[in-house]
Amino acid sequence: MGLSFDPDTVSLPIGHFIGGELIAAEGAIEMRRPSDGKAYAACPVAGVDMIGRAVESAKAALKSSNWGGVRPRERTKALQAWVDLIEAEAETLAKIEALCSTRPVGQLVVGDIAITAEQIRFFAEFADKEGSELVPTADATLGMIMSEPYGVVGAITPWNFPISMAGWKLGPALAAGNAVVLKPSEMTPFSAVYMAQLAVKAGLPAGLINVVLGDGPTTGTALTGHAEIAKVSFTGSTRAGSAIMENVARTGVKPMTLELGGKSPQVVFADADLEKAATAIAGSVTFNAGQACVAGTRLIVERSVADRLTAAILDKMKAVRPGATWNEATQYSPIISERQRARVDSIVRASIATGGECLTGGGAMDSPGYFYEPTLIANVDQANPAIVEEIFGPVLTIQTFETEEEALALSSHPTYGLASGLFTSDLSRTIRFARKLEAGTVWINRYSRSRDHILPTGGYKRSGIGKDLGREAYLANRRTKSVLISL
Ligand code: NAD
Repeated sequence: MGLSFDPDTVSLPIGHFIGGELIAAEGAIEMRRPSDGKAYAACPVAGVDMIGRAVESAKAALKSSNWGGVRPRERTKALQAWVDLIEAEAETLAKIEALCSTRPVGQLVVGDIAITAEQIRFFAEFADKEGSELVPTADATLGMIMSEPYGVVGAITPWNFPISMAGWKLGPALAAGNAVVLKPSEMTPFSAVYMAQLAVKAGLPAGLINVVLGDGPTTGTALTGHAEIAKVSFTGSTRAGSAIMENVARTGVKPMTLELGGKSPQVVFADADLEKAATAIAGSVTFNAGQACVAGTRLIVERSVADRLTAAILDKMKAVRPGATWNEATQYSPIISERQRARVDSIVRASIATGGECLTGGGAMDSPGYFYEPTLIANVDQANPAIVEEIFGPVLTIQTFETEEEALALSSHPTYGLASGLFTSDLSRTIRFARKLEAGTVWINRYSRSRDHILPTGGYKRSGIGKDLGREAYLANRRTKSVLISL
C-alpha cells in the first residue's frame, strides 16, 4: 500500500495554534476535499481578538526566549531539530496535506516536504553568517550598520503549495530572529498547524510560531492591520496583495514582501531541442493542474516549428490521468474547489467566444472531484481573456512569431512578470533574452526551479515586491540601523 491511505482515517489538527496550544474554535467555512468533493471539516475564522492573542504570544515568546538575541548558532541548531522532526513525521504531514489540498501524496514526501526541509535548513545556516558590518569612515569615527530582527512578522500564504509556502515564510523569518503569526489559506490550513506543533515538540519556544485560521477579509485584514506586526510577508493573488497594501497604508506603515500572481511566457525557437521543450512546457501546465504561480501558461513558438511542437505537447497533455491525491501513483491533481474550477472554465469559454480555438480539453473531467482537462487554446491575440487573465488551471495558449522582436513583444504581459522560459541552442540569444525578458525569473532550456535555494524568486510589474528564497529573503527579515561613534 505504501503511501496511499484512506482519507476518512486521517486526524486533523483543527484549531488555531497559539502559544504552543491548539485552540479549538467553531468552524465557519465549509471545507471539501478537492479529490472527491466530500465535505470533511469547517475552518474557524479568527477575528481581531484572536489575532491580538497570537501577537501577544509571539511577543512573550521573543521576550522569554531572547530568540533574536541568543548566540545565532543556537537558532540554527533549534531550527535544524525542527526540520529533523518534520522529516521524521513526513508521512503524517503528507497525509494531512494530501487530504485537504491538490498535492498528491506521492509527490509530497519526496517533493514538497523534502524540499521545504532543505530550505529551512538553508535559512537556518544564515543565522550565524549574515550580520552587522563596519563601514569606512574617518579615523575619528567608527561607523557600523547594525542588523536586527523586526520582532513579530505577519505571514499569509495561499492554498496551492501549503507546506512549501509556509516554509518559504517561516524559514527566513525565524532564522533571522523573528517570531511569526502565520495565516495559511482557509482552504488548506492544517499542514501549517501540524508543522507548528512539530516545532514545539522539537524544542522551539512555544509562541514563536503561531498559526491563526481564517479568511482574508476578516483574519487577514486583522493580521496585516495589527499595530505590532512589524513586517508583512504575503504570497497570493495580485488582487489580495493590493488589498493588503491598502489596509497597511490605512492602519500604519510597515514593510511588505508581496509574492503575487503570474502569467508566464515560454518562448521556443526553431533551433531548440523540441522534445525537451515539449516535456517541460506540458509539465509546467499540468503539474498541480497548472495551479502554480510560475506556471508557463503562454507558449510563444517560432512559426516554422509550431505544428511539430504543438503535436508533441498535445500527446503529453492528453496522456494525463486524474487520480485522488491520497493514491500514491497519482500524478495529475484536481482543482482546489468547485468555484475555482468554474472560474477556469468561464475564462476558457470567454477565450473561445472571442476567437480562441480549443485544440484539446476545455471542460471538466468525467471523474469525482474537481478535475479539469488539460487545455490548449490557439488563435489568441494579446486581448484574448486566456492571455490577459491568470487562470490558475491547466490551460496553455499558443501564439507564433517569426522574429526575435515579435517573440519579445508577445512575451511581455501588461500586468505580470513573475517567471519566463526560453528554449534555444543559440548562446548569444539566451543572453539577449535573459536581459530583455521582463520577469523576476528566467529559465533557459528548462522550466522549473532547481534545489538551489540561493536563487531568489519574486516578480516584476504587478507580480510582486521583494523576494522569497535566497539571501534576499533572509535579509528582508532583518532591518538595519546606522550607528556612528565619535572616538
Ligand atoms: P488569494 O490571494 O485568494 O489568497 C492568498 C491568501 O491571502 C489566503 O490565505 C487568503 O485568505 C489571504 N487573503 C485574501 N484576501 C486577503 C486580504 N484582503 N487581506 C489579507 N489576506 C488576504 O490567493 P490563492 O487563491 O490562495 O492563491 C493563488 C494565487 O497565489 C495566485 O494568484 C498565484 O499566482 C499566487 N501565488 C504566488 C506565488 C509567488 O511566489 N509569487 C506563489 C504561490 C501562489
